[in-house]
Amino acid sequence: MAKEFRIYNTLTNQAETLVPHKKDHLTFYSCGPTVYSYAHIGNFRSFLTADLILRTAGAIGWEVTYATNITDVGHLTEDDLSDPSGEDRMVKALQSKEGEQFVNIWDLARHYTETLVEDWHRLNLREPTVRPRATEHMREQIAAVQKLVENGHAYETDRGVYFSVTSFPEYGKLSGNTLDNDLEQTVRDVVVDADKRDPRDFALWKKDDKHLMQWFSPWGWGFPGWHIECSVMAMSYLGETIDLHAGGEDLIFPHHECEIAQSESLTGKPFATVWAHTRFLQVEGEKMSKRLGNFFTVRDLVAPESEGGKGIDPLAVRMTLLSGHYRKPFNFTMKTLKGNVRHSERLSEVMALVGHPEEGTGEYDGETGAVLQGMYERALDAMLDDLNTPMALAQLFGGTKMILGKGDALDEEARAAARRWLSDMNALLGVVYYDDAPAATEEEDPLAAQVEPLLEERAAARAAGNWDRADAIRQELSALGVEIKDSKDGTTWKRTTQI
Ligand SMILES: [Zn+2]
Repeated sequence: MAKEFRIYNTLTNQAETLVPHKKDHLTFYSCGPTVYSYAHIGNFRSFLTADLILRTAGAIGWEVTYATNITDVGHLTEDDLSDPSGEDRMVKALQSKEGEQFVNIWDLARHYTETLVEDWHRLNLREPTVRPRATEHMREQIAAVQKLVENGHAYETDRGVYFSVTSFPEYGKLSGNTLDNDLEQTVRDVVVDADKRDPRDFALWKKDDKHLMQWFSPWGWGFPGWHIECSVMAMSYLGETIDLHAGGEDLIFPHHECEIAQSESLTGKPFATVWAHTRFLQVEGEKMSKRLGNFFTVRDLVAPESEGGKGIDPLAVRMTLLSGHYRKPFNFTMKTLKGNVRHSERLSEVMALVGHPEEGTGEYDGETGAVLQGMYERALDAMLDDLNTPMALAQLFGGTKMILGKGDALDEEARAAARRWLSDMNALLGVVYYDDAPAATEEEDPLAAQVEPLLEERAAARAAGNWDRADAIRQELSALGVEIKDSKDGTTWKRTTQI
């Protein structure tokens, strides 16, 4: 029997079975970052939810067309107040101390886009089918705004073009901030354009011939509002009605509410069938803030110490972020992280014991294989039940414990089963090894590229009886955050944990 994939739908407030419009082919859009700084672990928690949806759908044989955008224009600091007077986040970043390193705003956008993709790969997130940028879809955004003006859903003032919320009676159906409920209070009295017909109307286009990024439009020079880009890019790549739309819970209002209003006013069709939202993340029980010193970007945690990071295994960071259910607020602590560094080390021990993972099929031979198969099936069922990552990880840890417990007593059949099981578990959760390279090679691990030559030199020094040199190399390795262990089979190394 075909498996069902259930996800909690914010639109209907209940878990629902995903039913792709095209059989076994999910169309999926997830809101990406605004590229004005390095993405933090809270941002990545919601990108990870999208990655897990992709993996879980893949595990039941679905194809997924997955688009996730780069917001490189138009996101104002006051966007949550429907206030077009806010400062542009990217312009503000360019004018900050950190912004001094960039030649111009395009350079800043490029830098933070590149580093986002780097961190994306560090955390073993799969590449989307397409990663569109707002600045590369300007014609489509202008055309959409134009159509909304023509069909009476939008109007122009001296300062911009606005979407008229009263023209879309269903406004509020996602967030509950409806027209006759508390919408007015939510957007407060932040009207800066006295010509706006209603304080609740939000900007589709901002006229500004001084802005650092501007395009020519039927309304003169300016730039688009933040919300329109996602409507336009989602529909360009995925069609007028998409199966699933995801993002962080802070996007429910106004961003996603506005996306629905614009898109459905353009097409007259439902924009997305299911809306999934990842709850917020705290660090050590408090809201992340630079002032409290508990603000972490991905690179703060995983970059080597020589580059100002903590040198923590990125897959352990990923595991930590998965250890809480996406729909519950998550408390990221150094203690949990430390525990997951240990889990990650144990997975490496499993791979050292049974060999590199081999492509799995979900079915394994033998007695050990049957137990592992049960664990894989339970992990898959947990993921299909609204992405129950704590339950799925428990299966992974249970299998790890069993394999390490048996150790050298495992026969070849059991080892082969374990290799396939590791591969299947990794395809589902992405925490065992990097998808594109099961074996740790120098290419994907910059630290290995430094460590391996030193180990060779140390072995040569030891063989020649040059103990001073060998000791000096051990100290050098220690300074790199590497601990070595000599045994009769040679020398192994691992990262020391800096938490
Ligand atoms: Zn978006």
